Amino acid sequence: MTDLLVLDDVGKSFGALRAVDGVSFSVAAGEVLGIAGPNGSGKSTLFNIITGIPFRPDRGAITFAGERIERLAPHLIARRGIARTFQTETDFETLSVEDNMLTALAQRRDGLGHGERVREARRLLEFVGVAASPDRTAGEISVFDRKKLMIATALALRPKLLLLDEPASGLSQPEVEGTIALIRAINATGVAIVLIEHVISLLMSVSARLVVLNFGSVLASGDPVDVVRDPRVVEAYLGAGAGRDLAAA
Ligand code: ADP
Ligand code: MG
Repeated sequence: MTDLLVLDDVGKSFGALRAVDGVSFSVAAGEVLGIAGPNGSGKSTLFNIITGIPFRPDRGAITFAGERIERLAPHLIARRGIARTFQTETDFETLSVEDNMLTALAQRRDGLGHGERVREARRLLEFVGVAASPDRTAGEISVFDRKKLMIATALALRPKLLLLDEPASGLSQPEVEGTIALIRAINATGVAIVLIEHVISLLMSVSARLVVLNFGSVLASGDPVDVVRDPRVVEAYLGAGAGRDLAAA
């Protein structure tokens, strides 16, 4: 498979804090790559510097589809095919679910008329499973539906690469299962996914490869089963027993 995204020694500091400190990895076209690591290990900052929202890396190179993007404006990065979600809901909570979708679709520069946009909005809502009442405001729907709405607004940009920041946090077990099914369905359409999660079972079930960050650096990466058994990962992140249980699961 060809590399879609390549990070080469990227870094971002906040004053003396090296939030991302020399990270390198690549994501193949169509691949699902998982990212885990303790709170504060730099996972979200990594998404921020890849997308340029809200800041750029202060060192290193980021190549997407063969082009350097680390100095591009965020909207140009989005236009090249990288979309993301955030850890907290970023929809417009006083707008209806459908208007949230139409706002996202308006960023697509493909000359769709209003009727076509409404159809596309409804298609995407059905795809992610927020089928009921497109008239309700985003503030009125469940946390799970809001998370799916945020994913649908990202998909509205027709990304080649989707970055998901903790999509399963705060969800019940059946909702986590639903999120796994959705991630697989998105990936089956050919979209590559980078997934940040604390729910290791979710990461293990969808990721072809796993990267574990610690203090802004890559602690381990590779086959998920090998990574969760890695003694450094067990010590820094999983705790004794957990890595063994996960690898056996
Ligand atoms: P994670 O997502 O892995 O929990 P983050 O990437 O959010 O971690 O944060 C990594 C580190 O960088 C943390 O110590 C956090 O406090 C710090 N950090 C993140 N964003 C900022 C910012 N805008 N200003 C200052 N420090 C930040
Ligand atoms: Mg985070």
